[in-house]
Amino acid sequence: MKIGVLALQGAVAEHMKSITLAGGEPVAVKRTEQLQELDGLIIPGGESTVIGRLMRKYEFVDALHDFAAQRKPMFGTCAGMIVLAERIEGQEEAHLKLMDMTVARNAFGRQRESFETDLSVQGIDETVRAVFIRAPLVTAVGPEVEVLSTYKDEIVTVRQEHLLACSYHPELTHDYRMHSYFLDMAREARG
Ligand code: GLN
Repeated sequence: MKIGVLALQGAVAEHMKSITLAGGEPVAVKRTEQLQELDGLIIPGGESTVIGRLMRKYEFVDALHDFAAQRKPMFGTCAGMIVLAERIEGQEEAHLKLMDMTVARNAFGRQRESFETDLSVQGIDETVRAVFIRAPLVTAVGPEVEVLSTYKDEIVTVRQEHLLACSYHPELTHDYRMHSYFLDMAREARG
């Protein structure tokens, strides 16, 4: 499985390492032409406003809508989750608007700006180690969106058919099971 990591800004190398550990072949994606060869794409954490601006500059917006329309799996982590969301609290314009959910940026406040925890994620045996850094929260989901995990009653992992998103950084630990889960989605999509 060839899994791309959108390499405009953010935690790209770490995702590539986790994809390799999970048995996939990672590709750093800098040009839209590269999307054709992929079985799935990860949008990494970083700064969603910067990723959004660079996506527009390098013409990724239409290209990624085509990619999603082909039912190819996408996985947004942290800022990547914000990029996939249809609505962003307090912001007029969202980015890709592919997942029927509302997110709030930097939602944990100053005290909990960055922390690590173990999460139960539906579909994965045993808890997953998750690193939260100025993380977003999902504040509302549409009927198509499945909640895969919560942290203190707040939604932090979601799936909408071939689209997966989480508030945290699964690539900053040695635990690559979220990447294995995503590789399974890519295998299923390829049939
Ligand atoms: N706070 C960032 C944003 O709003 C997300 C942080 C992250 O990706 N670690 O885009």
